[in-house]
Amino acid sequence: MIVLKFGGSSVADAACMRQVAELAREALPQAPLVVLSAMGKTTNGLFAAAKAAETGDLAGAMEQQRLLMAAHRKAASELFDEAVPEALDGTLTELFGELELLLRGVALLRELSPRSMDAIASLGERLSTRIFAAFVGGAWVDARTVMRTDNVFGEAAPQQQAIRILADQHLGPLIHVDRIVVTQGYIGATEEGYTTTLGRGGSDYSAALFGAVLGAREVQIWTDVEGVLTCDPRVVPEALPISELSFAEAAELAAFGAKVLHPATIQPAVEAHIPVTVRHTQKPRGRFTTISSEVNTGRPITALASRGPITVLTVSSTRMLAQSGFLARLFEVFGRRGVSVDLVATAEVSVSLTVEADVPLRPLIQELASFAKVEVHEGRAIIAAVGERLKSTPGIAAQLLSALGDINVEMISQGGNEINLSIVVQVEHTHEALRRLHRVLVAGIR
Ligand code: ASP
Ligand code: MG
Repeated sequence: MIVLKFGGSSVADAACMRQVAELAREALPQAPLVVLSAMGKTTNGLFAAAKAAETGDLAGAMEQQRLLMAAHRKAASELFDEAVPEALDGTLTELFGELELLLRGVALLRELSPRSMDAIASLGERLSTRIFAAFVGGAWVDARTVMRTDNVFGEAAPQQQAIRILADQHLGPLIHVDRIVVTQGYIGATEEGYTTTLGRGGSDYSAALFGAVLGAREVQIWTDVEGVLTCDPRVVPEALPISELSFAEAAELAAFGAKVLHPATIQPAVEAHIPVTVRHTQKPRGRFTTISSEVNTGRPITALASRGPITVLTVSSTRMLAQSGFLARLFEVFGRRGVSVDLVATAEVSVSLTVEADVPLRPLIQELASFAKVEVHEGRAIIAAVGERLKSTPGIAAQLLSALGDINVEMISQGGNEINLSIVVQVEHTHEALRRLHRVLVAGIR
């Protein structure tokens, strides 16, 4: 079997859904499980409605509810040329009735718990999949009967062992050549049956989990880009689609905000050795990226990514640095305060490290001040060069530094897995640095 996951932009309206239906039908010989997101920006609309209700603005919440209902009914009636089947019509009425009840409850209490929010948010995927399943004549499965999670509402963790058993019961038997099975991304349920969500953008994760427990041959993530690109095309217009990417490279890039993949997506699929492909719904015969456990791309650098602004802290202690225990003491403070450190570089008398720009620094620095001197450099950016072959290509750091020319590098660090060479520059140099590196290290070597 294979898993096809379509994001919100791929099912935004009737025209998009037709396109998705065509792709699902083409996959019929491969026993497709179709995992859908909510239509377009529906999840945002549901959050807005819930927040309005929480402030007691029932009229505002109801207005949102009407807008969502109109959009879904319009899509359904366009798909069925005005003749929406009675069963689907009834289901839509029921689901919007449920939404209205939930919103009224929230408005009455002026209280929106994460559990209530998840119940409301789940409607987006439940609606889109009902419409789509009716249109393609597929089997509809409530993901909540399979996607067992813990009870951390809003960011629930899937329980893969339980999911495997539930999938064997409720999903596996339906999956068959020449049948389209449709289910929801993003949503799940606790053992007690409370609706949960995996966190915003969680549908990719759902798709990978379903693929893993069902032993899919492939998990296809259909979106609005031709796979993963070598760099952000808004910065580097000559960025190229990457045909093969390793899981480790994908994880590094995802950590730098490469928009196409939820980092957590990767885990269940990696472990099950299932390739994940990222494809363009509007250009199904175009280029795409295959992400798999091992690849051997030709270039030492597969892609470039950046993150900024970030803050660099340079911590020194003339007294203690050379002694043992300084780093332990230093990182203990970061750990206790829950501040995550991204890059670290050490010199004889100082340690430089990077943290997110929005970390509250004052209490941290106050505490560090008792045993170290701290300099703060704001307005910096991390540029990461990612590639499996970095580890076996000598001289790459020298090439990288020379490609940067007169752009000053303030920190340099190679990750322990040796596939990420990161540098820190002034944030205003980020774009120029990416362009120079791309020209020499990515486009230059083909
Ligand atoms: N519909 C959810 C969201 O917008 C999940 C997803 O699209 O992956 O966050
Ligand atoms: Mg989405």
